[in-house]
Amino acid sequence: DRDEIAALMRSHIAEFPDFPEPGVLFRDITPLLADGAAMRRVIAYWCSILPPDVEYIVGTEARGFVLGAPLAYELGVGFVPVRKAGKLPGSPRSVSYALEYGTATVEIAQGGLPAGARTVIVDDLLATGGTAAATIELVRDFDAELLGASFLIELEGLGGREKLGDLPVDAVWSVP
Ligand code: AMP
Repeated sequence: DRDEIAALMRSHIAEFPDFPEPGVLFRDITPLLADGAAMRRVIAYWCSILPPDVEYIVGTEARGFVLGAPLAYELGVGFVPVRKAGKLPGSPRSVSYALEYGTATVEIAQGGLPAGARTVIVDDLLATGGTAAATIELVRDFDAELLGASFLIELEGLGGREKLGDLPVDAVWSVP
């Protein structure tokens, strides 16, 4: 259940103060990835809270790949990678968004999502919501049906959830 998963998360997510810059408490999923049994429990639980009618999992480079692929595989649905700028051939769709310093761009391959596809976006962590908001815009650009956004970790109080409007937002582990 949820409490058991929270305990597992607490013991498998490492914390690094002041990384990558002063004032940020970095949550590192490496210990979770290294424990096969823990990963299977987390992925099974995560699958159980995703919308049952999802057709595509959209995951953001790079940790959204490592978590999104096993979710999609377990559910037997498609996985669509969201890549950083310049990695995709053809004519990908792009959305740029503001970072604290400068901008970043996320892309999905040309033809990467069918119109109307029931889609959930996933990532390791929701902080300010900038990355997820850009990914949402990208998915909507394909006229896909966005069912929600789901995260391994939600850092509450950074305004991430609010930034995603009325889209249903869920997390395996919410940290106050
Ligand atoms: P944001 O766009 O602010 O919601 O940030 C989300 C993205 O940045 C995710 O892809 C995370 O991997 C990464 N990120 C932001 N804050 C942290 C943190 N405290 N620890 C680990 N990763 C983070």
